[in-house]
Amino acid sequence: MARVELRNVWKKFGPVEVIKGVDLDIEDGEFIVLVGPSGCGKSTLLNLVAGLETLTSGDIRIGEDVVNDVPPKDRNIAMVFQSYALYPTKSVRDNITFGMQTRRIAHDMQERALADVSQLLHIDQLLERKPGQLSGGQRQRVAMGRALVRNPDVFLFDEPLSNLDAKLRIEMRTEVKKLHLRLGKTIIYVTHDQIEAMTLASRIAVMDNGHIRQFGTPEEIYENPVDLFVAGFMGSPS
Ligand code: ADP
Ligand code: MG
Repeated sequence: MARVELRNVWKKFGPVEVIKGVDLDIEDGEFIVLVGPSGCGKSTLLNLVAGLETLTSGDIRIGEDVVNDVPPKDRNIAMVFQSYALYPTKSVRDNITFGMQTRRIAHDMQERALADVSQLLHIDQLLERKPGQLSGGQRQRVAMGRALVRNPDVFLFDEPLSNLDAKLRIEMRTEVKKLHLRLGKTIIYVTHDQIEAMTLASRIAVMDNGHIRQFGTPEEIYENPVDLFVAGFMGSPS
């Protein structure tokens, strides 16, 4: 089971409070979309869950465990960033399996995981290519593949599609949705694309200036925004 629980989470950079007492309860297998204006703290919040930043105060729980002091590699998560951060000199195969090699997973297990994931993402014909020989969409699939083979209970996505053109973004949105339906993992997904939020989310968290303003289903957020900020941000008519 991989519930994710944030309790009164604060993060300061020097004197600047960036995350200001966030509480969030995410159920096992939920697809949470985090939206909000640039600079409101979305990436910082994901980085805290991933362990790439340390909390100033509060608690983060993944599954049964409080993970405040657990290093990123020992958290049951994998993260996909906006910039693909693939190794340019390594093949697609090596980019995907690199994390498994460092974790000393047996070779035949690696091969099986690679085959599964690359079929799922339609990149099984591209394994010997280098990132420079791929399109943007293909590179993003490889980045997702690298996260998927780790087989964590929780995926964190930070604006994974925002570098793609509109057509590809819609195509990949459908792929992400299929992945979630097929794998049933818990996902926290940051986007500034409202349509992406409405179509992917089981619940949307609307963030502003280090606070969660509203957390609810797409219908609730759209039909009953708690304030003008949420209404304006999600573009609802009221
Ligand atoms: P978002 O992802 O919503 O655009 P971020 O989480 O990246 O927002 O940033 C939130 C705020 O925290 C911004 O004002 C940003 O400048 C600040 N910030 C982020 N990372 C750091 C850091 N490492 N040091 C200082 N300030 C930071
Ligand atoms: Mg960000």
